[in-house]
Amino acid sequence: MKTDARVVTKKTPEDFAKMAIAGACVAAIHAATRAAAQPGTSLLELDAISAEILREHDCRSSFLGYHGFPATICASPNEVIVHGIPSRYQLREGDIISIDAGAIYEGWHGDAAFTVAVGDVAPEVTQLLEVTERALWNGIAQARHGRRLGDVGHAVEETARPHGYGVVRDYIGHGIGRQMHEAPNVPNYGVPGKGFKLKTGMAIAIEPMFNLGTSESSVLDDGWTVITQDGKLSAHFEHTVAITPEGPKVLTLAEPRLVDELDEVGRA
Ligand code: MG
Repeated sequence: MKTDARVVTKKTPEDFAKMAIAGACVAAIHAATRAAAQPGTSLLELDAISAEILREHDCRSSFLGYHGFPATICASPNEVIVHGIPSRYQLREGDIISIDAGAIYEGWHGDAAFTVAVGDVAPEVTQLLEVTERALWNGIAQARHGRRLGDVGHAVEETARPHGYGVVRDYIGHGIGRQMHEAPNVPNYGVPGKGFKLKTGMAIAIEPMFNLGTSESSVLDDGWTVITQDGKLSAHFEHTVAITPEGPKVLTLAEPRLVDELDEVGRA
């Protein structure tokens, strides 16, 4: 999506705490939509579930109305990379579905995404999802005071390389805070030791998008839906991460957690 603000803003621990409340709402949306992503469930049903959880958490959707986006969440099945608009489409056995959710609490945003298989999928598809999620966590592990965005992007990109996946370059992560999309841009590629220097008090959303085929994308006539040019499957994982003196803290979990307390795929 487009970046709204070019200034890198510094957050206080109190600001991070509010972002973590938004993030816990996002985590609740993830849990509910993951459970509901079964054959026969429509994408509009996933959207309705998400809207209800936002209400329960006293949050608003970051996406609804954003540059005119017409829904609560993005729901991106199969060859859709990102920004899918929830529709009447009913999930089928063998699909994959990416859910991207953003919540606003007292003006502060949390933004995160995951991809899940619907029923049984081919081993190469399971691997695409696992590797994309691992790339996210490898990127998060680099999000420390004094490191650079090239370190983050390189860690993400290198995770894809042995598998030959298309690493999407047209869409990238972003700073986040009072705006969903703030500076800096957070690419899923980079050169170690190069790029913007991270500092305590920053928050970034890291969001690898890996494709089974080409990295090239197209946008459908609805102006939103981004698909792979070759029609092959695409996976997307994202978390909102705070740069703290104790290291990277993931804000879009049920409770905020330092990455150093978690295993290499974010499990407690
Ligand atoms: Mg994002």
